[in-house]
Amino acid sequence: MSKQNYQTPRGTKDILPQDQPYWIKVRETVEKTLNGLGFGRIDLPHFENSDVFTRGIGEQTDVVSKEMYFLESHSDDESIRFALRPEGTAGTVRSFIQNGMSSWSQPVRLFYFGAMFRHERPQKGRYRELYQAGVEIFGDETAKSDYLAIMSAWEILTRLGLKNIIVYTNSIGCPKCRPKYLLKLKKYYKEKLSKMCPDCQRRFETNPLRLLDCKNEVCHAFAKEAPIMLDSLCPECKTHFQDTLEYLDYFNIKYDLDPTLVRGLDYYTQTVFEIVDQADKGRQGTIAGGGRYNGLVELLGGPKTPAVGFSLGVERVISLMKEQKIEVNKPRGVEVCILQLGEKAKEISKSIYDALTKHDINVYFVPSNDGLRQQIKTASKLDAQYAVIIGQQEAVKDEIILRDLSASSQEVFPAADVAEAVKKRLIKCECAK
Ligand SMILES: [Zn+2]
Ligand SMILES: [Zn+2]
Repeated sequence: MSKQNYQTPRGTKDILPQDQPYWIKVRETVEKTLNGLGFGRIDLPHFENSDVFTRGIGEQTDVVSKEMYFLESHSDDESIRFALRPEGTAGTVRSFIQNGMSSWSQPVRLFYFGAMFRHERPQKGRYRELYQAGVEIFGDETAKSDYLAIMSAWEILTRLGLKNIIVYTNSIGCPKCRPKYLLKLKKYYKEKLSKMCPDCQRRFETNPLRLLDCKNEVCHAFAKEAPIMLDSLCPECKTHFQDTLEYLDYFNIKYDLDPTLVRGLDYYTQTVFEIVDQADKGRQGTIAGGGRYNGLVELLGGPKTPAVGFSLGVERVISLMKEQKIEVNKPRGVEVCILQLGEKAKEISKSIYDALTKHDINVYFVPSNDGLRQQIKTASKLDAQYAVIIGQQEAVKDEIILRDLSASSQEVFPAADVAEAVKKRLIKCECAK
């Protein structure tokens, strides 16, 4: 039999230990920022009844029609078709309804962080298993919540140290004003359609808004001249959008209007937005995007509930952090190794281990019969800063040797003082950095 060389499936990746500091930094910043803004974390299953997505996101969208992974199930649920989640909003809405959150104190602010799955053509920076962090705000129809959604995305990205970012925003209206606009749009595109790409020819009937954000060169040129939604907004949508922009002005969030911005998903109403890197001229890599979706809760069977949210692409954020050379701290590794020689020392070592860990010091201790030189080598390989050495003599006198592994200097302490001594030195170490 030939040897198999198994590889990660196309579009997936391993996140190795050396890359984890970036992931930890993003996860912690997301949690800290959003907890601080009144959001509660929600974790959802990675798969749902596929109707949650097909109805919620829209049959005709690329995400549902081309990119969803369906699951074969051979259980008693056979009549139900499941799909891996391609995004976080539809599942959060399902949970909002299922858990009766409309009776919670409003607005309900939730956030998630986790893997999504999309069967996309793999290309640089696009993954089939991708991580997203996102927020959903339910129960407030005012521009306050549009602002809170945009601002919390902005805040996460700036706290991560990202520079040179900008918000693009647009309003795509509501069921009252959008149909009239779509008629105008179709009238404009009608004669141009034969020159446009096959995708746009298909979307003309099913999802004409998407003609505006096609990346094809010819289509893009037509989009620039197309009638814009902002001219067709009803008075409520107009006021709502103006209010949102006033908040952005007031809080100094850098933004620009983009009348061709429509987002790919059916559920959006009124405000839509994207945050991008200004150096990324072709806008290939959106860092974060979102908008308002006032009809979705009702569409999935819940009470009429206004809502707004965003999601950000964690891989995109991390690659930008690397491009912008943003430094991240390594996680605290081994701080102290306990090295012991002989049986009596081994007994004492366990109590030293307990004393140190009780003070939140990271300790590596595995009893060994190796000689001291060999044990010091092990400690160095683990990148420990200090070694606590207990030889036969020290065990008898109830003392320890504290060795600074980088300076190769050492001091003797009573065993009872070990935690204090180590703590003091570790703090000094932190300051020196
Ligand atoms: Zn409207
Ligand atoms: Zn096109």
